[in-house]
Amino acid sequence: MGGLTGARERSVHTGGVELRVAELGDASRPTVVLVHGYPDSKEVWSGVATRLADRYHVVLYDVRGHGRSTAPRPLRGGFTLEKLTDDFLAVVDAVSPDAPVHLVGHDWGSVQSWEFATVERTRGRVASFTSLSGPSLDHFGHWIKKRAARPTPRRLAQLVNQGAKSWYVYMLHTPVLPELAWRGPLGKRWPRVLERLEKVPAGDYPTSSLGNDAAHGAWLYRDNVRARLRHPRPDPYAHAPVQLITPTGDIFLSQRLYDELESWVPQLVRRTIPAKHWVPRTRPDQLAAWIGEFVDSQEALRQSGRATSLTLVEGGRPRGSARRRAALARYAERFAGQLVLVTGAAGGIGRATALAFATAGARVIAADRDGAGAAGTARAALAAGAPRAWAETVDVGDEQAMDKFAAKVAAEYGTVDVLVNNAGIGLSGSLLDTTPEEWRRVLDVNLWGVIHGCRLFGRQMADRNQGGHIVNLASAAAYLPSKTLPAYSTSKAAVLMLSESLRAELAPRSIGVTAICPGIVNTGITRTSRFAGAGKEEEAKHQQRAAKLYGVRNYPPEKVADAILRAVLDNSAVVPVTPEARGGRLLARLSPKGARAFARLNPPV
Ligand code: NAD
Repeated sequence: MGGLTGARERSVHTGGVELRVAELGDASRPTVVLVHGYPDSKEVWSGVATRLADRYHVVLYDVRGHGRSTAPRPLRGGFTLEKLTDDFLAVVDAVSPDAPVHLVGHDWGSVQSWEFATVERTRGRVASFTSLSGPSLDHFGHWIKKRAARPTPRRLAQLVNQGAKSWYVYMLHTPVLPELAWRGPLGKRWPRVLERLEKVPAGDYPTSSLGNDAAHGAWLYRDNVRARLRHPRPDPYAHAPVQLITPTGDIFLSQRLYDELESWVPQLVRRTIPAKHWVPRTRPDQLAAWIGEFVDSQEALRQSGRATSLTLVEGGRPRGSARRRAALARYAERFAGQLVLVTGAAGGIGRATALAFATAGARVIAADRDGAGAAGTARAALAAGAPRAWAETVDVGDEQAMDKFAAKVAAEYGTVDVLVNNAGIGLSGSLLDTTPEEWRRVLDVNLWGVIHGCRLFGRQMADRNQGGHIVNLASAAAYLPSKTLPAYSTSKAAVLMLSESLRAELAPRSIGVTAICPGIVNTGITRTSRFAGAGKEEEAKHQQRAAKLYGVRNYPPEKVADAILRAVLDNSAVVPVTPEARGGRLLARLSPKGARAFARLNPPV
């Protein structure tokens, strides 16, 4: 990830301390100020800073007492939010005297930035604020008060949950011990702890100042937490637009803390990211992309003189019940801006899935062997709200074509965040009637297509080392044997096992894997399914009957798409979708004998 090579450094003197400030990029561009947390120094931002430096004037500083900034004397009382605000203003005066800055804070850097974005004396100096894993102490204080004043079982549970996550805050309030631990054994072990628990890549972070940073930084807690939580300011309203990025795997902060944030922040964009606490180290690409997008949108508004709020992520206009709208908002928080590749996207479940991701604001690659159909989906994706959408023609069963395709995607669009291996074909007919050629075709598409997708795009995700998700379309036929679907069921059972095994393999890399087992879904698959052993005419009849049955069942592919987005959000392992798929799974588990009896039945088509 590299350090801050090429940075221009200077000192800013304020309130008896000397702050070390680093700058990257062209100073005439919009200024982005990155504020680090605890126990960190400005180097925590190096990955993000270097990614932003070609487009912005990037400024980082060591918070007083951290890194190469000096500590106030005495320490007690030297770290109040008021003093930290003085520091921020001094830095901003030095680096961007004429234009407001875009503020980004992580952990305690975010806690203090909330102060900068909500107190009166910084009004006009903050153009936007991106907050990561650090709440406003005032908002937090009001959050606690509300729950304590009007406790319901749910609110009490939320209090207890956050209380349990705050164990380290109590520890830091004890005198002297934290300092001894950080300057001694804890400081030594910390890099390994970060690597193991937080999956922070090893390298030039944390820096050698860690012991001092952590010892001094304990005063951030002691000087502020109790006082503010007991007596939160009555009016901590944000005077700048805020982008809230919430890592879903943050062990220090409950997501519920932000439930009422809209009442304090008139212009709020929410994002979630499946990551742990140290996102600046583990997800610099995604962060840099989101920061850049937010900064650009705010700069565009500022320049056009409009101070309207931005609705970045909703895509299509949400309709339906409040629950549905909440689900759409959650999808948008998670998927906006992500790169999603769907195979078999020309029709059916693939097309519905591509459009659902598009509605959530994702960038979509619609791939299919039917190029014209894929192009239609890409156009519809743009109309549904995708910021970008592309169509690609590829046969997923063709190894060489897939090799080329994966290389092209990486070179032209980047690393895929979510891959949906959906392309598949149907084949009915007894094993004795199925020719080797028919076997080969169904395995090539349904199984090898998934293997190629997982292998090639899984490798790219793993190499990027920033997580991701792979969804494989299996089927209820994967766990329900049937005498008329031997080839199809075999291909889908293999996809299910492949998904389960790969899930175990990729979990340590924060890449989720899901197998979807739809059930009977009304798509065009019935029109193209082959029936082994049947002549042309008989096959056409079978297809018509199947289409009729699927039409009567009439389960829409959009519902499968919704289940796919939800599964990625929740990182589910296996998702049977329709009631019959769920019932079948129960039967296969509780009564394998019953499932075997079922396998002998003559199917309706
Ligand atoms: P569909 O026939 O409507 O769509 C499949 C798409 O995949 C088509 O656009 C087709 O052109 C494309 N495709 C087929 N072979 C391809 C290849 N070799 N390379 C690239 N693209 C190819 O089917 P659907 O019902 O939407 O099915 C999608 C997936 O869901 C399949 O894997 C299917 O097995 C699975 N599934 C469907 C049902 C159902 O009831 N419809 C049930 C269980 C599982």
